Amino acid sequence: MAPFMDGTAESPPNNKPKPSGIHVLIVGAGFAGITAAIECVRHGHTAQILESYKSTNVQLGDIISFGSNSSRIFKRWPGIPEKLDPICHRSEKLEYRYWNGEHIYTQYWGTEEENFGKRYNGHRGEIHKIIFDYAIELGVDVKLGQKVTEYFETDTEVGVVSNGERIMADVVLGADGVRSKARTLVLGYNDAPKPSGYAVYRAWMDSSELAKNDLTKDLVLNGDSHTGWLGPDIHFLAASIKNGKEFSWVFTHRDERNVDEGWSEPGNHEDACKLLEGWAPEVHAIVRMTPPEKLVDWKLVYRDPLPTWVSPKGRIALIGDAAHPFLPTSIQGASQAMEEGSCIAVCLELAGKKIAADALRAYEKIRYERVRLTQKTGETTRDAWHKADFTKLKENPEAIKLKREEWVLNHDAEAHAYKMFPEVVKELRQ
Ligand SMILES: Cc1cc2nc3c(=O)[nH]c(=O)nc-3n(C[C@H](O)[C@H](O)[C@H](O)COP(=O)(O)OP(=O)(O)OC[C@H]3O[C@@H](n4cnc5c(N)ncnc54)[C@H](O)[C@@H]3O)c2cc1C
Repeated sequence: MAPFMDGTAESPPNNKPKPSGIHVLIVGAGFAGITAAIECVRHGHTAQILESYKSTNVQLGDIISFGSNSSRIFKRWPGIPEKLDPICHRSEKLEYRYWNGEHIYTQYWGTEEENFGKRYNGHRGEIHKIIFDYAIELGVDVKLGQKVTEYFETDTEVGVVSNGERIMADVVLGADGVRSKARTLVLGYNDAPKPSGYAVYRAWMDSSELAKNDLTKDLVLNGDSHTGWLGPDIHFLAASIKNGKEFSWVFTHRDERNVDEGWSEPGNHEDACKLLEGWAPEVHAIVRMTPPEKLVDWKLVYRDPLPTWVSPKGRIALIGDAAHPFLPTSIQGASQAMEEGSCIAVCLELAGKKIAADALRAYEKIRYERVRLTQKTGETTRDAWHKADFTKLKENPEAIKLKREEWVLNHDAEAHAYKMFPEVVKELRQ
């Protein structure tokens, strides 16, 4: 059998699971933290989240993608797929063009969704709100306005200091994103991010102006569309959503400036258009029609793979971006963050309260290689697009298509954890 593919195991029913007595404290209510909390509750643990944002803001962010491997997790949460469907992008193909607008290749998704499961591409804030509300409904204790400043761990205790208060648990999950503080505790040193050499201009906007413009109307008037323009060291992707009513675009370009750790900063039309000199007029029109307050420039930071995601005494684990930032070209950052929650919940269930530390070490062992290989796909796709030999592409246009690999997309994190845990724990104890 191919690596990371175990079919689908029996998932616990969504009615009352057997209580494990394990209390899981999670720092961060991003997709990693919320998924971990929901999955922990589904598997019989109690979960509390501490999040520094004072409120959930549906405006924050723009397009985010969930592959079939994470939609499998959404599918186990009653009512969630039905809420995601109407707000997500739907199209059967991605059309690639050269930077000057000439057609290169059209990639059809075919039976991928039937074979592996649905994909969801939509607005980060809107999708986040749906699963945030579901976590509350399930009984997750979410505390907003909590800034965690310290993590501690002794032979008998683990916890955090948040807003000056010590809060204890059986295990702590650092789901605190790319600027993780938990990472410093786990590693024992500060791991500063490095510039990746790239940044992304991005926007999400209403498409009514695009619909009136001859250069752009075809992108929004026929329902949802998905188009990519490729040129030397730049790719520009645009998608219309909600039957063409809303529009999102991202364009990745070289950026040698210093790393600002914020996930985004205001973008500038002139700077963006300068980088697109000689590009198709429809691309310029999209940028120019973007309301200034909607345009952001998002620096892509890079980190070397961490040697470990688990603290010395085994009771604090990093999950999601805190453990491993992904390049957007992997289209897997949020999906891998979600897989982590599924895996940990199973490991805690199988380990039990007394040896919860084994659960976190097993989680790392089960996940590490898969995450490393998936991260690599981000670099491979970026290089295939940015460093393409554009003269040779005419002979082999398929070379630029997105790889849709079964080992990434047809993976069931929960089933995989059930299968791997016994042998991984045996190895850890030897
Ligand atoms: C506001 C925002 C908007 C984003 N928009 C997009 C987007 O449009 N497209 C896209 O592809 N990706 C976006 N991302 C990144 C994307 O969500 C992640 O790469 C991915 O989903 C992995 O999620 P995560 O939970 O590991 O990290 P994140 O989503 O970054 O979540 C980490 C959470 O931890 C909280 N936190 C951090 N430090 C502390 C602390 N000390 N105490 C308490 N809480 C803390 C943060 O406030 C945040 O909510 C965005 C992230 C954020 C935070």
